[in-house]
Amino acid sequence: MSDSAPSEPIETILFSRSDAEVLQRNARDLVLRMRAGIFIYPIIWFIVALGSNLFSTDPVIVISISIALVVLTLIRFFHLQQLTQINFAQIPKWLRQVTLLMLPHSLIWGAMLGYALTHDNTTFALLMTFSTAGIVPGGVYNFAPNYPLASLFVLSIMLPTLLGAIVADQWFMLGLSLVYTGYILLMAKGQNRDYWRALENEHKLKKQTRTDPLTQLDNRRCFDEKLSEFCHLSSRNHELLTVMLVDCDHFKQVNDTYGHDVGDQCLRHIAQTIRTHLPRATDVVARYGGEEFSLILPGTDLAGAIKVSERLRAALAASTIPLGEQTLTVTASIGTVSRRLNRFEQGLPEELFKQADNALYQAKSAGRNRCVHYFYDPATAAYQQA
Ligand code: GH3
Ligand code: MG
Ligand code: MG
Repeated sequence: MSDSAPSEPIETILFSRSDAEVLQRNARDLVLRMRAGIFIYPIIWFIVALGSNLFSTDPVIVISISIALVVLTLIRFFHLQQLTQINFAQIPKWLRQVTLLMLPHSLIWGAMLGYALTHDNTTFALLMTFSTAGIVPGGVYNFAPNYPLASLFVLSIMLPTLLGAIVADQWFMLGLSLVYTGYILLMAKGQNRDYWRALENEHKLKKQTRTDPLTQLDNRRCFDEKLSEFCHLSSRNHELLTVMLVDCDHFKQVNDTYGHDVGDQCLRHIAQTIRTHLPRATDVVARYGGEEFSLILPGTDLAGAIKVSERLRAALAASTIPLGEQTLTVTASIGTVSRRLNRFEQGLPEELFKQADNALYQAKSAGRNRCVHYFYDPATAAYQQA
C-alpha cells in the first residue's frame, strides 16, 4: 500500500480511440449512418434508368446493373447487422469486410457515371451527374466515423470518371473531376475530425457527470446506476453480490484540527488505499458523499466480504498520511451485506444499500474501526448479522 497521499488527482479523464468501448461506439455509429445509404444505390439507379429511357435502349445493362446493386445492398445490409453478434476483438476484421463490400457498390456506380458521361443520352448523363453529386457528399457524411473508408469511397466512385477522362482526352472533365474529388476529400477529413471531437467531448462530459472530482472515483449517481445494473445482472444469473460501505471515523475532528485542505488530502489517500485493495476489475468503488465510500463486489459471498473488508480496514488503520513533519492516521468503520440474488424486485438495490448502512451503523455503535457483516438467509427470508 502506498503511504504517500497523492497531490495530483488519481487520474485525469482520458480518451483513447483504441478503447474497446470507443471502438464499439464508433462501429455502431458507422452502422447507423450507413444503413439508409446502402439502399440509395438501387433506388436512384431505377429512377435514373426510368427517366433516361434506358429500359428500352439498354435493357441488358439496366437489368444486370439493377441485379448487382440489389444483391450488394442485401449483402451489405445483413453484414452490417452482424455487428451485434461480434465481440470487440473482431471489429477490425468486420471493418475490413465493410470496406471490401463498399468497393463494388461505389465502383459500379462510378463506372455507370463514366458510361453516362460518354453516352449520347443527355438525360442519362445529366441524371447520373446530378445523383452522384448528391450520393458522394451523403456517403462522406455516412462514412465520417472512419476516414479511410470515406476517402476510399470517394476515390473509388470517382476513379472510373477520372480514368475515362484521361482515356478520352477530356482534359476539362479531368480537371473538374480532380477539383471535385479533392474538395470532397477535404470535406471527409473535416467531417471525420468533427465526429471525433464530438465523441471525445461527449465521453468527457459523461465521465465528468459520473466522477467525483476530489478522488476521481465514481460518484453517487454512477454508483446508484451501477448497483441497479448489477442487481439486474446478478438476479438474472443467480449470482452473489456484496455491497460495502466504508465511513471514516471521527473525520470531523480531522477537519477541525488540521483544516479542510488536509481533510481533502486524507480523502484522496483513503480513496487510493481502497482502490489498491480491490484489484478485481469488476469491483466498483465510489465516493458516495462526504467521507463515505460505497463499493460493489460482484460474485462475492459473506466469507469473501469478511476477508476483503477486514483487509481493507486493517490497511486503512495501518496507513499513515504524511503532513509535513508529522503523520496522520485515519481509521474507518465498514458495513457489508451479501446476498445471492435470484429474482430482481423493485427496490432491491435500495434494500441492499440500507442493509449495508445498518451494518455500518452497528460498526460505529460497537466502537468504530471495525467491520460488521449482514447476509441474507433464504430459509428465514431475512437479513441476519454474521
Ligand atoms: P463518525 O465516526 O461518526 O463517522 O464521525 P464523523 O466525524 O466522521 O462523522 P460526521 O458525519 O459527523 O462528519 C463527517 C465529516 O466529514 C463532516 C465534514 O467535516 C467531513 N467532510 C465531509 N465531506 C468532506 C469533504 O469533501 N472534504 C473534507 N475535508 N471533509 C469532508
Ligand atoms: Mg464518519
Ligand atoms: Mg459519514
